[in-house]
Amino acid sequence: MARPPELSARTRAKNLDVLSREPFDLLVIGGGITGAGIAREAVLRGLQVALVERRDFACGTSSRSSKLIHGGLRYLAQGDVALVMEAANERRSLRRIAPHLARPIHMLVPVHGRSGYVTISAGLFTYDRMARVLKEERNRMLGRDETLSLEPTLRSDRIYGAGLYYECLTDDARLVIENIKAAAALGAVVANYAAVTSLLEEGGKLVGATIRDEIGGGDLAVRAKVVVNAAGPWVDDLRLMEGEGEKRRLHLTKGIHLTLPFDRLPVGRCVVMNAADKRSVFAIPRGKVVYLGTTDTDYEGRYDDPPITADDAQYLLDAANSTFDVERLGFDDVIGAWAGLRPLLHQEGKKPSEISRKDEVMVGPTGLISMAGGKLTTYRKMAERVVGMVTERLQALGETLPEKRGDSETTPLSGGETGDDVDAFIQRLKVRWPRVSADLVERMIQVYGSNGERMVEAMANDPQLARRCGADSALTVSEVAYAVREEMAMTLNDFLERRSRLFLWDPNNGLNVAADVARRMGNLLGWDASRVDAEVEAYRKHVHDVKSFATSSIPEARVAHG
Ligand SMILES: Cc1cc2nc3c(=O)[nH]c(=O)nc-3n(C[C@H](O)[C@H](O)[C@H](O)COP(=O)(O)OP(=O)(O)OC[C@H]3O[C@@H](n4cnc5c(N)ncnc54)[C@H](O)[C@@H]3O)c2cc1C
Repeated sequence: MARPPELSARTRAKNLDVLSREPFDLLVIGGGITGAGIAREAVLRGLQVALVERRDFACGTSSRSSKLIHGGLRYLAQGDVALVMEAANERRSLRRIAPHLARPIHMLVPVHGRSGYVTISAGLFTYDRMARVLKEERNRMLGRDETLSLEPTLRSDRIYGAGLYYECLTDDARLVIENIKAAAALGAVVANYAAVTSLLEEGGKLVGATIRDEIGGGDLAVRAKVVVNAAGPWVDDLRLMEGEGEKRRLHLTKGIHLTLPFDRLPVGRCVVMNAADKRSVFAIPRGKVVYLGTTDTDYEGRYDDPPITADDAQYLLDAANSTFDVERLGFDDVIGAWAGLRPLLHQEGKKPSEISRKDEVMVGPTGLISMAGGKLTTYRKMAERVVGMVTERLQALGETLPEKRGDSETTPLSGGETGDDVDAFIQRLKVRWPRVSADLVERMIQVYGSNGERMVEAMANDPQLARRCGADSALTVSEVAYAVREEMAMTLNDFLERRSRLFLWDPNNGLNVAADVARRMGNLLGWDASRVDAEVEAYRKHVHDVKSFATSSIPEARVAHG
């Protein structure tokens, strides 16, 4: 099996050097899903591409979503047929290029009366036909008894019946990192912890940017014919660097999620709940935890790690308490949480949940192309549109376009070569490598897709690689090495929060393995003992802070959910 190129601290250092020396066709600012998707699309079209991220890849909104690849059902209610078709198409395409990152799941929508039942039934029927949903994945309406036998945790007093439809579950941060890896494997020059601090102009035209190396220190200038601003919630900050005349256009809304132990809310599938203000929110089981999400409130405050207020958490707990027949859920049951900011375009007079999620492109006076809005689900289509604009700009500059190297809709992502049936792929590996425990084979493929096959093979040949980091942890030592050597993990937080995702899915947030992982990362990255301790301490503080709900960080009037 061919070994993919290294993507490590050493690659990062080399890349920063290349960035300072070579001119690029395209510089992408921001390593969230928007930037990562654009970088991959652009290298597939043969362009010379650079991508810089001020902290870690996916550290912004793209690791803080609900992790659903929506088929566009919600756009049907808004009458936006084009968006329904686009979301449905993109869901199909992601299932083709990265099946392990678009796992089909059932969503159950409980209904409390006959008229609701008729409306949902009509909506799901229309959606299935419009979105060309596969026959075996079409929606179903359930009567009261079937609903309660399928989901006995529901409060029975309120149930009339339910709708059952398909969505796909993804892992947002891993979707970003696999796009970054795919782009890098095709020659994109990428660096995390590399922040754009100013834009470079010549004769009123944008020609690149100044980058600060947030790890080694020092500044460097990157030259590029076209610059794309994919900075998510920070998009306006970059736009304002372009000139005094630019005004802020974004309207940030915050969404939070809570994780609870599965034992406290043992739901068998994803359940759509009605919040007090009639918004739909979800309860989604994921291994040993269940997560609740999300809110949608106006936000002003820091963009990194937006704080979660007690009001935010209460809103979701109330929705769960009114939906499920379990012992009352309270703050003490919350074992984890995350908050993200939607970088939406401001629309006068609209409430947070009414603002369009459609992506929009803005072009600044010196030529900066900025993205706003959008969804994880439609990132590839958005990238196609933006790179289309980039190639037009290059042609206008007199450049001859290079030959295309592949199609983003059909070329597998990094890890995306399992074939459609991920479970069958897992089964084959279990048979092929019986010396590796079945639960490890499952974990490697579910998290790393087809890249996990190489890890399983290595474990079969060297059982030391299958050693766990900590007695009761599923995490293996080989994953730490993989993230450092092939996924540019530079800090303990990068690994626990965005590569392995223990921060979210481990009931202990990965704290029980933090010291062990930090030592192993330190061995690979040359950290001394005090750096190892500092990494563990910073991680502990982060886990503590995210669960210390503030009483309210913004004026009460702005905390209008809905
Ligand atoms: C609560 C919530 C739930 C959601 N759920 C879903 C869902 O289930 N399904 C779905 O399809 N969509 C969902 N979305 C929407 C989706 O998550 C976002 O549309 C998407 O993640 C935005 O990605 P982005 O790359 O534009 O922004 P980000 O992920 O924020 O990326 C921008 C990056 O730019 C970097 N950056 C900023 N300034 C600089 C600089 N000066 N130099 C270098 N880098 C810089 C930042 O550090 C950041 O990493 C959800 C959003 C939220 C908030």
